Amino acid sequence: IVIKHHIEDAPNDSHFEVKNEAFGLSINSGSDDVIVKNLYISIDPYLINRMKSYSASHNAISFSTPLTPGQAIDAIAIGKVVASGNVKFVKDDLVMGVFTWGEYSVVKEQSIIKKLESSEFPLTYHLGVLGFSGLTAYGGFFEICKPQKGEKVFVSAASGSVGNIVGQYAKLLGCYVVGCAGSQKKVGLLKEKLGFDDAFNYKEETDLNSTLKRYFPDGIDIYFDNVGGEMLEAAIINMKAFGRVAVCGIISEYTDAEKRASPNMLNIVYKRITIRGFLAADFMNIFADFSAKTSDYVRNGQLQVIEDKSLGVESIPSAFVGLFNGDNVGKKVVVLAGE
Ligand code: NDP
Repeated sequence: IVIKHHIEDAPNDSHFEVKNEAFGLSINSGSDDVIVKNLYISIDPYLINRMKSYSASHNAISFSTPLTPGQAIDAIAIGKVVASGNVKFVKDDLVMGVFTWGEYSVVKEQSIIKKLESSEFPLTYHLGVLGFSGLTAYGGFFEICKPQKGEKVFVSAASGSVGNIVGQYAKLLGCYVVGCAGSQKKVGLLKEKLGFDDAFNYKEETDLNSTLKRYFPDGIDIYFDNVGGEMLEAAIINMKAFGRVAVCGIISEYTDAEKRASPNMLNIVYKRITIRGFLAADFMNIFADFSAKTSDYVRNGQLQVIEDKSLGVESIPSAFVGLFNGDNVGKKVVVLAGE
């Protein structure tokens, strides 16, 4: 799948096309290529910023490079090695790496993040709860927010891949947690299945400042921000003194620059609020700790895993577009083939 041209605002299916390219499934002699049959593709919002003509991230220290129209789109995925000219990989190895939005990928060793040894969990968990979504939630919440038991936590895009895990970690620690999401069905999931203390549908609220006052009459200690925009502005107004805001992502601004948040800076000064952005990659040093604890929570049924799967390579564009329309619940993954 490729983009036909750069995407300046909200993506839709017509921005993408399927290109067919034939190649052999054997390695040319002397080549160190690894040919991977893609099994599961992680669908992530940040890619929209690589699809813009100026690439929103080009001035930032970034793990992402701009995409050129017509170029195969690369993303985190899990696949099975079909053939390898690199001695470190053999046929049938299961690997996670940066592969293409397509049925096969031809990559070098640097694109392979790790081999996946036999796992007690479904492989897709390594893209979500036990992969980068989980690490983002774990590092963002514990390292950036520095939460204490009993603190009041607000999470936006709370039914999404990162948000639902943040809320569950916060409950496991003993915090009071409120989430917002874009439908009543999602609100029900947060309260009934995931144990959030409360939740609301932000699309039904007209004044987010009063909404947050209703849910946090004494103020918010921690805001885990996935959306930016007006929700960030309203949260800043409702933060307690010495509150912490972890800026994980600003999805409402990715497709609409007009929505850019301009928080009340005087509030930040007087209330001594800390606002900090971060990248999942910042937390590779705590991956082992994250992985062990989160695996235990999942194994013991203390952490629910929410996945949302689509089937087949043709479903990749709509799976991606759906992230910006709130179609997904939990981690969005496209399944291309079984193991
Ligand atoms: P999600 O699974 O949460 O999917 C996106 C969700 O965002 C949608 O389901 C939708 O839910 C919500 N959404 C979409 N558009 C808007 C909007 N205009 N206003 C409010 N909500 C909106 O994705 P992820 O969990 O993977 O990502 C969540 C955020 O975290 C993103 O901003 C992403 O870029 C960021 N991120 C950052 C990382 C980092 O390293 N810093 C790593 C991974 C993700 P709803 O129905 O509730 O509107």
